[in-house]
Order: sequence, then C-alpha cells, then structure tokens
Amino acid sequence: MAQSESCIIVGAGHNGLVAAYYLARAGFDVTVLERTERVGGGAVTDELFPGYRIGTCAYVCHMLQRRIIDDMELRRHGLHIYPLDPSGLFIYPNGDSLRFWHEHERIDEEIALMSPRDRGAWPKWMEFWEDAARLFQRYFLSEPPTFDEVAQDVAGTKYEAVWERLLNVPIRAMAEEYFEDPRIAAAAIGSGDYGAISEPGSALAQTYFKMSFLTADEDLGIVRGGMGGVTQAMANSAREAGVAIRTNATVNSIIVRDGRATGVLLETGEEIGADIVISNADPKSTFLCLVDENALPSGFPEKVRGLSTRSASMKLHAVLKRLPDFSRYLRPGDPDSLIAMVRIMPTPDYIEASWRDAMNGTPTRHPIMQLQIPTVFDPTLAPPGGHVMSIWVTYEPARPRGGSWSEIRRDVGNALIDELERYLPDIRECIEEWDVFTPADIGERVGMTDGNIRHLDLSPDQLLANRSLPGCAPYRTPVAGLYMCGAGMHPGGEVSGAPGHNAAHAVVGDLR
Ligand SMILES: Cc1cc2nc3c(=O)[nH]c(=O)nc-3n(C[C@H](O)[C@H](O)[C@H](O)COP(=O)(O)OP(=O)(O)OC[C@H]3O[C@@H](n4cnc5c(N)ncnc54)[C@H](O)[C@@H]3O)c2cc1C
Repeated sequence: MAQSESCIIVGAGHNGLVAAYYLARAGFDVTVLERTERVGGGAVTDELFPGYRIGTCAYVCHMLQRRIIDDMELRRHGLHIYPLDPSGLFIYPNGDSLRFWHEHERIDEEIALMSPRDRGAWPKWMEFWEDAARLFQRYFLSEPPTFDEVAQDVAGTKYEAVWERLLNVPIRAMAEEYFEDPRIAAAAIGSGDYGAISEPGSALAQTYFKMSFLTADEDLGIVRGGMGGVTQAMANSAREAGVAIRTNATVNSIIVRDGRATGVLLETGEEIGADIVISNADPKSTFLCLVDENALPSGFPEKVRGLSTRSASMKLHAVLKRLPDFSRYLRPGDPDSLIAMVRIMPTPDYIEASWRDAMNGTPTRHPIMQLQIPTVFDPTLAPPGGHVMSIWVTYEPARPRGGSWSEIRRDVGNALIDELERYLPDIRECIEEWDVFTPADIGERVGMTDGNIRHLDLSPDQLLANRSLPGCAPYRTPVAGLYMCGAGMHPGGEVSGAPGHNAAHAVVGDLR
C-alpha cells in the first residue's frame, strides 16, 4: 500500500473515530467529516439545560473494548471511568430492591432476601452466560463467522451445548428455568432488541449485551463528563495519530464513478476526493440517502430498506431541584452512588407487553426504565450541589400511530413521570425542568434511522455474519472502495469501538 492512500470517513461517531485512528496508524491520510458541530454521534455530552450537561444518548460505558482503550491510549487522552459496583439497583413498587454487585455470591444473597427459593440460582445462571459471552468474545474483534462456522468451531467442545441453547431456547424460558420469582427472572433477562422474549433466538440476541459481564471492573461505569468523555478522548488520540477531523461538514452524497467510490460531495458543494470512503452512518442512511441508486445493483436498495430497525428508544432528561427520596429501597451501608443507575423492569410479562406496545405503534404503557443520576458520581455536569437525571426507555415505536412524536412528546413524557411516581412518589416535586428525546429526535439529531440506537436491530437474524450488508462480505459494500464502520456492522451497537476497529482492519487487509 502506498503511504499516501487517502481515506474519508463519513461521520465522527465513536466507530468512525476508532476506524480513523487505526487507518492513520496504518499509514493512511485520513479525514473524518462530521455533520454536527461536535464529534461523538450517540456518545456525546450536551448542555441540554443552561449550566447542566447530560449524556444526551449513551450514558454508561460497559462494552468499550480494552484493546481499543489501550491502543488509542484513551486514559492518557482524558478518559476517566468511575467504576460501578453495584452496576444497577432494581426497584419494585412494594419497596423491594435488588443490587447487581459484581460478585455473583453477593447477588445471590440479594436474591435470597427477596425470594429464598431462588437462592443458589444466580451463580449457575452466570456460569451459562459467561460461557455464552466467551463464545461471542472470540469473534468480537475479527470478521464475523456464519452460524455454520460457529457450529463447526464449537463441535465437540463444551460450547456446543451453549450454542444449541442460545439458538433454540427463548430467553424468557431460560430465565424461568432458573428463577421462580418473576421479578428476578425479569432482571436476569434485561432489555435488548431481541424481539419477543418468548421467541427462539431471543437468547442469542441477548448474548451480545451479556458480553459486558466480561468487561473489566475498571472499564465499566460512568464516564467523567458524560459519554462525550469517551469520544473526546478518541478524537484527541485520532488527531495525535494524524487524523483531520472536520465538524459542521455534512456529506450530501458519496461520489461513485465506474462502480468505485471516489470521494464525497459536501452540502456546501465542496467535493473531496479519496481512494477509500468509509461510512459511519447507518446502513439505511448510507444507501437510501447518500449513494445514488443507479450506482447500486438492482434490488439492493429494497434489501437495505428491508433491514430491521423496529426497536426504538426514548430518553427523558431532567434537572433536579433535589435528589428523589430512595430511602425505602436503601439499606445501611449502601454507597451514596447506588442511585446512579436504577432499573425498572418488574416482570417478564411487563417486558413482553412493552415490546408488544411498540410493535403495535403505541407509545409504551409498560416503560422499561433505566434511570441515571450521574451527578452522584460526577460533579462536573452541574453547578455545585445540582443534579441531572435521565431515563432511557425501551421499547418505543419508531413511528407512533395516531400522531407524530412531536405532537405527543409532552403527553408521553408526563405518562412516564406518572409511572415513575409509583416507585418514587416525590419525583414530580424533585424535577425542575424536563424534556423528552423521542425516537424522532434521535433520528434527526443523531442521524440514526428510526431512532434505532444500534443502527439496525441486534436481533438474531442480524448477528455475526448476518450483520453485513445484503449479499456483501462484512464491512464491504457493492461499491468498490466503499466500506461501512458503524454499529450496523458486526458485532453491533453500544459504545464498544469494535465495528470501527474491524472495518479498519478489513480495509487494510484488502489493500495489502
Ligand atoms: C438514547 C440512547 C441511549 C444509549 N445508551 C447507551 C449506553 O448507555 N451505553 C452504550 O454503550 N451505548 C448506548 N447507546 C448506543 C450507542 O450510542 C450507539 O450504539 C453508538 O453511538 C453507535 O456508534 P457509531 O459510531 O457506530 O454511530 P453513531 O454514534 O450513530 O455516529 C454516526 C455519526 O455519523 C454522523 N453522520 C451521519 N450522517 C452523516 C453525513 N451525511 N455527513 C457527516 N456525518 C454524518 C452522525 O452525525 C454521527 O455523529 C445509546 C444510544 C442512544 C441513542
């Protein structure tokens, strides 16, 4: 490869920045072009209320890969993670609570307090999931295998039974085998894009999120300055490696000549040529908006349109006058920071109902809530003594029936606060100001089609080698010289850096 090979990356999401770093290190001349005024995509911190900064989208760092942290020297470039142990507090309307400690035995003790008959089940549950996560981990920072290749890899090993179960036993059935108390079963299931939790394949999809069980304690937690702290460190590292990053630089189209990507055309009319173009935008935005249909094989745009983006999210952000009263959930000796990450997903039936609401186009009446109050760790986000709170909600319809998101946003936000009042009766008195970031806002402001926070659903049919463009090898596209590096590619969404890492290696490998 010539040293001067040039590369444009469309989008400065964290995966675009990671890809840029590895390509610059491999000798490419890299320019990253970002539509908005700042880098980060879904991993940003914005001043959403005067004087108060909030992680607008992502809020917890739980899957960022150690290899990437080390290679990019992110800690030297400013990354600071406040470790979270317990990583979550589950609360229930009757005042019960469950802490997710790192040590399995401590969770088991918690579970036994709520449901003595479930004593001893958690370590066994974790034994299965750590195996499942280890199986996925083999493929995380490499090009993905097909399902048949995984079956061949595991044949005759202890992972064969794990793989079979992941494919065939729905996550709900699995959790209910281990836990009698539905509240514990729901906490064990968690939330993901798996579709209905009673469907086969849902366990396989959930394995992706269970990968965070393998994240080192010091890499899992709340990032100082919000998740924008991750992408600021990445941008610093990429710049040091020689990457040029331009913000307020919207790419209007990717130029294709004679079947090959030759550069991009900016909104301003500026044309920039490059040997390689990599899109960090999601697959639907890239191929339905940025590439001329005539440059694509016939039928390809329809196939891209058919990729699944059903699972949308919403986030409510608030400034608090004071912290809500959690006293009925707390025990002597609990750390003050326990309320940094609070979860509400009371039963498997509730999780199913939430998914059904979203699929029927109804703003969910069963919100699965992940409440964050990062200011109990990180005072840099608010004026002295001030607090912010966010509630991440799954599942929501991408396009609600009976009104656009802009028409119903206030009602949906109020309904969410009403539901939260069942758990925290003084919550309304604590909230000074609030606003909702609907799936439509996520679509418009972050550029994620259908407000899909992982670019494409992390559903069983869009995993491993199937998390590639239709008919294409991983990270490649039907256009020569055009690659994909975002969350829509293997292994998937969340702030992991893995798709960016893998895409950069695919480019380097192809050119070698
Ligand atoms: C509400 C919410 C909560 C979340 N919570 C978490 C969490 O707690 N932990 C976690 O790990 N993950 C979380 N996620 C998921 C995570 O943020 C995403 O999976 C991740 O941001 C995907 O990164 P990416 O780099 O692949 O793409 P993106 O973050 O989507 O970045 C793509 C970038 O490309 C830019 N772009 C798009 N089109 C163009 C164009 N034409 N020209 C120039 N630039 C363009 C966009 O502006 C954007 O900056 C959350 C996401 C959301 C929305």
